[in-house]
Amino acid sequence: MLIEKVYFAVDMSQSIVLFGPPGAGKGTQADAIVEATGKPQVSTGDMLRAALAAGTSLGLEAKKYMEAGELVPDDVIIDLIEERMQQDDAGDGVLFDGFPRTITQAEALAKIAEVSLVISIDVPDNAIVERIVGRRMDPETGDIYHVTFKPAPAEISGRLIQRKDDNEEAVRTRLTAYHNQTSPLAIWYAEKGLLATVNGNQAMDDVGAEISAVLN
Ligand code: ADP
Ligand code: ADP
Repeated sequence: MLIEKVYFAVDMSQSIVLFGPPGAGKGTQADAIVEATGKPQVSTGDMLRAALAAGTSLGLEAKKYMEAGELVPDDVIIDLIEERMQQDDAGDGVLFDGFPRTITQAEALAKIAEVSLVISIDVPDNAIVERIVGRRMDPETGDIYHVTFKPAPAEISGRLIQRKDDNEEAVRTRLTAYHNQTSPLAIWYAEKGLLATVNGNQAMDDVGAEISAVLN
């Protein structure tokens, strides 16, 4: 009981995990958490896409999994995180976005960094497909838009891109991977007393307000 209480405290030198299904709004909410905590965002999805764009062997290995909507093998992801956590800006903890996604990754993470809080953004499956298929990205700023829920300003709409895996078929595979391999982690972290769940099925600002309440 006492140990659980110690873990509950949000220590500024520890890391935070942003958790949820694909399209839950993790990337959308990350900026405000980065601003509030000063911790850099570490998104394995962004790192894999950067590796792919740079044509590295890691990127090429990850490509087939990503495009199909399957999880990239744990050893590839864990190597990526181990390397990232050695950089100077990770010393006071980071905001993990989209990592860990399996129990194996969470166990590896526990040896690399201390997690003080897991914010789970809860969104039902029936809202996910529309969010993912309508998602658009600004390749210049990385900003995330949605054709219906967050239309981009007219002056940048011409340069928006759609991720290759943001199609209905890959989303269904991603949701299956989430339920089979990732969602058990919520229980794993809840048992450690680290899980805070917010309702992600409401307006973006309201999700943000719930997250700030958790952080404060
Ligand atoms: P989303 O935010 O839509 O869930 P991400 O950008 O986080 O998507 O991830 C895109 C793809 O990259 C995933 O479908 C998966 O193939 C791969 N990926 C990202 N993070 C991980 C991870 N922690 N473990 C395994 N695969 C990952
Ligand atoms: P994730 O990083 O969890 O995959 P994103 O933050 O990229 O999710 O959001 C997925 C899509 O859903 C984006 O197009 C985004 O604009 C939109 N979105 C995010 N949060 C909400 C929300 N609360 N209501 C409606 N649409 C949302």
